[in-house]
Amino acid sequence: MQIVYNWHITEHCNYSCNYCFAKWNKAAEICSNKERVDKILEELSKKDIISKRIGENITRVRINFAGGEPLILDRSIFDKTVMCAKKLSFETSLITNGFLLEFHPEIFKYLDMIGISIDSFDENVCKNIGRCSGKNYLSEEKLSKLVKKIKLNNPIAKIKFNTVVSKNNYSSNIIEQLQAYKPDRIKILRQFPFKGEKGITDEQFEQFLSINGKFIEKKNVVIEDKNDITQSYLMIDPQGRFFQNGNENFYTYSQPIFEVGLEHALSQIHFNKEKFMSRYGQGGV
Ligand code: SF4
Repeated sequence: MQIVYNWHITEHCNYSCNYCFAKWNKAAEICSNKERVDKILEELSKKDIISKRIGENITRVRINFAGGEPLILDRSIFDKTVMCAKKLSFETSLITNGFLLEFHPEIFKYLDMIGISIDSFDENVCKNIGRCSGKNYLSEEKLSKLVKKIKLNNPIAKIKFNTVVSKNNYSSNIIEQLQAYKPDRIKILRQFPFKGEKGITDEQFEQFLSINGKFIEKKNVVIEDKNDITQSYLMIDPQGRFFQNGNENFYTYSQPIFEVGLEHALSQIHFNKEKFMSRYGQGGV
């Protein structure tokens, strides 16, 4: 069985999505501290500890690098961390807003999966959400070029799209458009209520699912409603601590993994084993 650690390696981002949950008040990040990064990787590689914690035989571990926007980091930090993880036999993946991806083709071959967050191809919708950097957003034309570039540089890398359904895009047919790229995975996430952003109503979410109809019934689509999202991930914050959601206003944290080790840090956070197993039992999406 595979598990996935979602390492939010930086909080910094060139976008400013209004529903963003990657908020840590610009806390001190450890990604530039090689010693701490190496220690975290060493701890995360201990399959016996995570196996014992969840009561399953974990044979594969993937680190999913997320943010913020990981590609905003200096290459001597981000690329080296990914390469180091690969050398330690982790499977690796990246979730990016895609904006800087075209400038990083050399990292593609070290990633088993590249995930791009896309909520809409409509410029106004992207700008209303904050999924843009100045006047620039990820258009359909840019995505098409990116997908070609990924396939050229790493033909076996899996391609995934993440779409957050919010008040800005619940009436769009974005999943139909994304299926045209034949991705390995599309994850639909209902906007998580957090720090004053209330998310969307059941009716709005149902409308989105109905509009996208047969395009969400395919095997490559995973839908995460708000209850599926809580306490079902193993997430690490930019300071190297496990953190857990479940409350609309704050996270709970472990002590830093590089200080107390994996076993102790895992014992300090709660996760819902049933939700966790249903996610990772399906192949670690
Ligand atoms: S692209 Fe991701 S990290 Fe950046 S602001 Fe949007 S949700 Fe947050």
